[in-house]
Amino acid sequence: PSVFSAIEMAPRDPILGITEAFNADTNPNKINLGVGVYYDDNGKVPLLACVQKAESILIEQPTPRTYLPIEGLAAYDKAVQELVFGADNAVIQERRAITAQAVGGTGALKLGADFLKRFSPDSEVYISDPSWENHRALFESAGFKVNNYAYYDAATHGVNFPAFLAALKAMPKGAIVVLHACCHNPTGADLTQDQWGQVIDAVVTNGLVPFLDMAYQGFGAGIAEDGAVVRRFTETGVPLLVSNSFSKSFSLYGERVGALSIVASSAEEASRLLSQLKRVIRTNYSNPPVHGGKVVATVLATPELRQLWEEELAAMRVRIKATREAFVQKLKDKAPGHDFDFVREQVGMFSYSGLTKEQVAKLREQSIYAVDTGRICVAALNSKNIDVVVDAIAKVL
Ligand code: PLP
Repeated sequence: PSVFSAIEMAPRDPILGITEAFNADTNPNKINLGVGVYYDDNGKVPLLACVQKAESILIEQPTPRTYLPIEGLAAYDKAVQELVFGADNAVIQERRAITAQAVGGTGALKLGADFLKRFSPDSEVYISDPSWENHRALFESAGFKVNNYAYYDAATHGVNFPAFLAALKAMPKGAIVVLHACCHNPTGADLTQDQWGQVIDAVVTNGLVPFLDMAYQGFGAGIAEDGAVVRRFTETGVPLLVSNSFSKSFSLYGERVGALSIVASSAEEASRLLSQLKRVIRTNYSNPPVHGGKVVATVLATPELRQLWEEELAAMRVRIKATREAFVQKLKDKAPGHDFDFVREQVGMFSYSGLTKEQVAKLREQSIYAVDTGRICVAALNSKNIDVVVDAIAKVL
């Protein structure tokens, strides 16, 4: 026997498991709604024109591939701060915010988790019930005890706000609370601005540590609108962590571009935090990759490309909204006794459709793949497959 012989098989990732089953399905008309990726109306992952143009610019200026600084490309970190906090935010002017390029949104969350574990080892982490399936595993792997807070209410297909607020008020001082800044994954159920105000009050009053996960900035109401909650948190002066990702908003999934930002109470504190965050990075992967960061920094800092990006992102957002509308209307026709109006109110790429595990299993018999929880990716629907999906759903209801 070796060190390896007693190692057991790890459980399969539930979402990637769907993709494996989908890939093995030989039906040419199969449809995968289980993904967490934006597809265009042709069912393709887009290569944004702004990205292609930035890449052409970079090709014209060949540069050696030296190491980046530990915290990443300076131009990238600056552009991210301005996007996430708003360029005129006092935390930038007062140099209270630090930002480090990270290996996607996942990498940013893990950096934040490892950082917090060093300096707040006894805190517990709270994530929404339900949450992105990797949140729990990620914070547990950093050594934290992870709890759920009440969030989704299946009966109303919305947020159980009183229960959520009560949960926040019951958390111990110093607890780390992971909040989806916009486009809640997996439910699509977001808070209103008024509810955010109450959440912020509870976080401040209770001395909680907010960790905002913003993986979908621009997919909800708009870039600035989706970032508004981050700005509102910075106005309170509480310590704050923000992870963000460009996987979806730039369609740069495989380049792994994200960032972790931390807001401190002074510039001097911020420089201490950055020095410690650099240690976390250095002992993890040393420094981030170059290409994706350069592409994003080039787009964000070049006015024409930035304009193009905002248009391309808006087109993705608008297509998702139109698809929700079409989905609701078509279901009204095909399944008149059932109310799917809530799908219109949901925000972002996902919808908790209300389909049960049994109904999801029946859909699979028709080669339509969704998550057992009923989560479907609205961005995987298009003008060619939506009628097939709606007919299939009407049959299993
Ligand atoms: N956070 C949430 C809520 C997500 O949905 C995702 C991606 O699906 C991530 C973080 C991770 O983003 P990335 O793919 O950039 O690692």
